[in-house]
Amino acid sequence: MTKQQQKKNTPKNNTKKARIFTQEEIKSVLDSLEEMYPDADCELHFENLFQLIVAVVLSAQTTDKSVNRVTPDLFQKYPNAAALADAGRRAAEEQGLAEDEIIALSKEDLLELGIDAVSQIIHTLGMYRTKSRNLLKLARVLTDTYGGNVPDDYDKLVALPGVGRKTANVVLSVGFGHQRIAVDTHVFRVANRIGFAHAADVLATENALMEILPESRWSRTHHSLIFHGRYCCTARKPNCEQCKISQYCDYYKKTLQNHEES
Ligand code: SF4
Repeated sequence: MTKQQQKKNTPKNNTKKARIFTQEEIKSVLDSLEEMYPDADCELHFENLFQLIVAVVLSAQTTDKSVNRVTPDLFQKYPNAAALADAGRRAAEEQGLAEDEIIALSKEDLLELGIDAVSQIIHTLGMYRTKSRNLLKLARVLTDTYGGNVPDDYDKLVALPGVGRKTANVVLSVGFGHQRIAVDTHVFRVANRIGFAHAADVLATENALMEILPESRWSRTHHSLIFHGRYCCTARKPNCEQCKISQYCDYYKKTLQNHEES
């Protein structure tokens, strides 16, 4: 995936001009973050692209740890897209329905049975019924349209049920090795605190990061920023004293200035 391709996928929006970082400053920030988090990588557990896209869909507005707690049972019961797409039929069989009774069920009845079955496994996650519904529809499209495979294409990915911009970028980056920047809550917060972006939303932040970061480091930096947001630059109380990039950080400079003035 080229810079032009990700930019083409990015609508223009209200990105304000971030402060200008020199190439040396950017390199120093990225190097320091990599030093702080040498193992920064996707923390979701998965063994193939099907499991990856399912795990990323499940991770919306919840932690990777919570997702990792439910996916072993989910993947054991539904090891591939076809099995997940047929969750409703399997649930009907497990309830003892005869073949003619299953055939008599409407598509919506089967879908509801599948949603109930998947929900039982993932009920500890937020929005579990919506996620269950999306996963069943996603599995159906993957099975019927892509032979059970996950497409290596942004437009095809975002057309899948339950797959938005962030999920598509994570799948392209982690699953297919493309250079992508997926902006979640951590990337959004940290990038705007540092001053890499001055943006009101994730799209504008993605735009700003693509503008200033070298494309060859997009995916690695995406993980570095997530780890920094999780383990140092936390939402409520950033640990600026331990932060190796404080000298470059707008938020830190402003906080320091406010302390000195008060
Ligand atoms: S100095 Fe503080 S606010 Fe800035 S990136 Fe580091 S932890 Fe976050």
